[in-house]
Amino acid sequence: MQKDQLFTRRRVILASAAALGAAGTAGVVLVGGDEEPVRTTAPEPAPVAGPQARQAPKPSAFRLRPLTGYGPPRAAPRKLKVRKEPILSISGRGRHMMLTFDDGPNPHYTPHILDTLARYNVRAMFFVCGECVVDNKELLARMADEGHVVGNHTWTHPLLTTLNRKEIRSEMERTSDVIEDAYGERPQWFRAPYGAWNRATFQLGAEMGMEPMAWTVDSRDWTTPGTDIIVDRIESGAAPGVVVLSHDAGGDRSQSVRAIREYLPYLIDSGYHLTVPHRRVG
Ligand SMILES: [Zn+2]
Repeated sequence: MQKDQLFTRRRVILASAAALGAAGTAGVVLVGGDEEPVRTTAPEPAPVAGPQARQAPKPSAFRLRPLTGYGPPRAAPRKLKVRKEPILSISGRGRHMMLTFDDGPNPHYTPHILDTLARYNVRAMFFVCGECVVDNKELLARMADEGHVVGNHTWTHPLLTTLNRKEIRSEMERTSDVIEDAYGERPQWFRAPYGAWNRATFQLGAEMGMEPMAWTVDSRDWTTPGTDIIVDRIESGAAPGVVVLSHDAGGDRSQSVRAIREYLPYLIDSGYHLTVPHRRVG
């Protein structure tokens, strides 16, 4: 893609984000840049995910984006209501689903997943670990350029419930910092490793302007059960509002890379609109 095309693409994304931002209330989740409002819901909890990966940053159009500006990072993030449980699904009119990929970015797998998403013009969420971002900043730049949403998945993928408040804050803050540097803006979403949430993670996330996002359907791809099984779990779990958990790092993810080439066209053919949230700025 030519650089001037990237500029154009970013402008389109920014224009639609700005239009959405004009409307709203904190906590309401919008699905898709051009969609109707969608509210998040929080049913039962779900567990487990695996850990993590590297290259050189390149200057890219996203660095010139007007939202980030040329000055210091934005001041204190808007404080959010502290939730008692994470968001597990999206809801709204229509057959929306959301694909999420954890533990990356990884230079061996993430580019293939991005290629497949691009082939079908689909946006997804990537919950990244800070220590993986450091050596793969160009992958976050690509995510920004291609309209994906990046969330905070801590720096080292620890079990947060075993850490004290200061350690949790450090894990989350450092990761938001490196995401801002590589992606162009601070994350508005976070996901606790292993789905292990506690009061401190909800409080600190809210303080940092991030909503807790869990998932509805776990592909358990990190157990490398075989591409067919991953595909089957996702296709049979498909339903309106479902948030799918997969991984683009933390081990051999070639099954996950192959699986999305199968389930993504299936979901689209089944009438699902794969989308990402845009939280309204309230
Ligand atoms: Zn994880």
